[in-house]
Amino acid sequence: MADALDRIARWRADPGAVQGCPVCGTPGVEIIDRSARPYSEWYVLKCAACGLDASLHIPLPGPATY
Ligand SMILES: [Zn+2]
Repeated sequence: MADALDRIARWRADPGAVQGCPVCGTPGVEIIDRSARPYSEWYVLKCAACGLDASLHIPLPGPATY
């Protein structure tokens, strides 16, 4: 899971770069951004090589409330 988050961080930093599958390591894993900002971020990772179809949910602090 930490590795997957690391890959998403790298993907966001450089969306054009090919990312490897966090499970099998095959390059070219598909990352789909389904985020509902500013409340949460959703990413779907799909890998044709090993059949990975995982959703990652990253909670965001959302708008600041005081
Ligand atoms: Zn894979």
